[in-house]
Amino acid sequence: MIPYGRQTIEEDDIKAVTEVLKSDFLTTGPKSAEFEEAVKAYTGSKYAVAISNGTSALHAACYAAGIEPGDEVITTPLTFAASANCVLYCGGTPVFADVDPKTYNIDPEDIERKITEKTKAIIPVHLAGQPCDMDRIHEIAEKHHLLVIEDGAHALGSAYKGEKIGHLSDATTFSFHPVKPITTGEGGMIMTNRKDWYQKMLLFRSHCITRDPGLMTRNDGPWFYQQLDLGYNYRITDIQCALGISQMKKLERFLDRRKELVRRYNEAFKENKNIITPYQMDGAESGWHLYIIQVLHHDRKKVFEQLREKRIGVNVHYIPVYMHPYYQKNGYENVHCKNAEEIYSRIISLPLYPGLTDEEQDRVIEAVRDVLK
Ligand SMILES: *Cc1c(COP(=O)(O)O)cnc(C)c1O
Repeated sequence: MIPYGRQTIEEDDIKAVTEVLKSDFLTTGPKSAEFEEAVKAYTGSKYAVAISNGTSALHAACYAAGIEPGDEVITTPLTFAASANCVLYCGGTPVFADVDPKTYNIDPEDIERKITEKTKAIIPVHLAGQPCDMDRIHEIAEKHHLLVIEDGAHALGSAYKGEKIGHLSDATTFSFHPVKPITTGEGGMIMTNRKDWYQKMLLFRSHCITRDPGLMTRNDGPWFYQQLDLGYNYRITDIQCALGISQMKKLERFLDRRKELVRRYNEAFKENKNIITPYQMDGAESGWHLYIIQVLHHDRKKVFEQLREKRIGVNVHYIPVYMHPYYQKNGYENVHCKNAEEIYSRIISLPLYPGLTDEEQDRVIEAVRDVLK
């Protein structure tokens, strides 16, 4: 089976990890700081907090934003559940705005329609790596005094109007799950330009425990520490961060290969009336985390099954979040986002990852052409 996504691990990645295993630090230590520096330098963000995964990154950002019961946060339904779950973790209420039928990203005009006096933040998701319409989203956020947390799980290396994703909003989160642009096995990072958020998230990562005399209410002696708020153990290990540092050196190469594979897919399908290839907005430079096609004039389920039978590891990104039983049982049974549901009914993600060879991709193309002729 050719998978839809897969990590690329090379000898120097393995060497970087085994070196840490022989060092003094296994959990969060010097390699975590070095990894944060590398992603900061790459994205142009002022501060970074490396964390256990992309979901805890979103949770930490919502915590820094002060999301609490009574607050509404607007996000897209066409995403992984974590983009909305992070709001629930803080007691807030996710509100779903529909997506743009061309880009599949959150539609700023529908964000504006969903704003109430309870709205506190917007979580745009750069689906498949294509940046959202950030100028318009920031304009709306400013007008209504809302915070913006970008879910950049797909977008490390993506750029919006020439600016790398990672420094444009109050915070941007990344995921380093194996299928994402680079991997640390499990891992994540929050980027921010706000010192206050940085300090909050740093504490949040480790139980909100501090040894800083400036933050403590008293100090009994050199052993002393205090827990200032309810935090979690969301630490990332130096073992993971060593892999992250090594992977960062390859990011541009990974992105170039993804772009080349996309160019080949687009070329192969451009005459096919049964396929809508991914649309790219002006000014958006995608990191191409996913290659999502819409299937026309055919039953998507049959197409999916036929491709799986041909050993092509296709997938669907995503089932609208509010359709999951947990959301249905908790007040979302009457929520409908028409564009998201229509797109969901037609999409299939084709294999795309840096290690996919031309020959493997040709097999995918042939299978897709055969099924969608
Ligand atoms: C992968 C992903 C996450 C969560 O990241 P994890 O590292 O798996 O916790 C969040 N949002 C989106 C859009 C994702 O694809």
